[in-house]
Amino acid sequence: MIDFPSRKTFTPAKIFVEESVENTELTQKLLQRFSTLPVEHIADANELLNKAAAEGRKPSWQGTILLAKQRGPFLRYCPGTQNHICCMYHNLDVAAGCDLDCSYCILQGYLNNPLKTFYCNMDDMYAELDRALLHHPNRFYRIGTGELSDSLTFDHFIHIDADLVGYFSDKKNAIIELKSKNVHIEDLLGLEHNRRTVISWSLNAETMAGSEEPDAPTLDDRLAASKEMQRAGYRLGFHFDPMLDHEGWEEGYRETVDKIFTFAKPENIAWISLGALRYPAGFDQIIRENHPDSRIVLGELLPGLDKKLRYFMPIRVEMFEKMYRWIKSYSQDVLVYLCMENDEVWRKSFGWSPGSSAALKRMLDERVK
Ligand code: SF4
Repeated sequence: MIDFPSRKTFTPAKIFVEESVENTELTQKLLQRFSTLPVEHIADANELLNKAAAEGRKPSWQGTILLAKQRGPFLRYCPGTQNHICCMYHNLDVAAGCDLDCSYCILQGYLNNPLKTFYCNMDDMYAELDRALLHHPNRFYRIGTGELSDSLTFDHFIHIDADLVGYFSDKKNAIIELKSKNVHIEDLLGLEHNRRTVISWSLNAETMAGSEEPDAPTLDDRLAASKEMQRAGYRLGFHFDPMLDHEGWEEGYRETVDKIFTFAKPENIAWISLGALRYPAGFDQIIRENHPDSRIVLGELLPGLDKKLRYFMPIRVEMFEKMYRWIKSYSQDVLVYLCMENDEVWRKSFGWSPGSSAALKRMLDERVK
């Protein structure tokens, strides 16, 4: 195992198993692996999820994992946001919940329960992927598993990422992006990935990583993991999202950009995204309750075109413009894009805009096709 001093390793304490997935390969594998843990069999995962939501962040739920059936589609278009340019990404929901507990994590409001849920009907997932990719050979799919969870944070025991890398390795019209703040990369070394996998890390300014992402590995460890993945031939991605306005933000973000380019070769960087803190009205109350020491709710945020609260536009533009300049100073070839911003912010920050979601999708697709 590679030595990442700040690696975070979640260990389950109790398992709930929904009857409908009792006999799947993934369920059986996990039950064998954790054969000494208490296991409770349940008929319907929703009842448990509702109970957990009602009880909130009680410590007893924190180590609980739920093996359940994904009843809806695994593959969904990213919902994007109204009146903004969207990259038209697909999310693959293989798990829901995360152990890293970042103060700003939108899952606190979206999932509203502390369980870590793993969807164990993986055969259905691969059948669904086959249907989408084979039946639409002229459509290009960028797919990621880091929307309702962190792509790597549980992979030291669920071990599904290597299978995903293998599945996508021979796909002509799709890539998979594994997006993470954790460093469980061992399963991915030595695989035939054929550069159809992008391994991405979410990054921040060092002080913000320390105060708002305290349960995640340090920036240095995330970057060290990224360096290993580059050595293994993967394409890399980096996401500065959410960027947080704080005293010293310029030095902080600049330093992180500088660190990336100490090792990452521009030709191996699929993309770098930028996004500023945003959340729906009322979400600041959840942050205050769950993370009383967090300072991110102290700033002034205003409702945008999609009604989400954001920093005042000149602040966002200044952050994006500087980041763009710092990144481009290392290489003009690196593709930098904004997540959930409108045409005006693109133009003011970068001096150009893709103009539409379809055009941004084309740019990102071309980068990895
Ligand atoms: S790593 Fe991502 S999914 Fe996990 S808590 Fe942080 S923001 Fe949420």
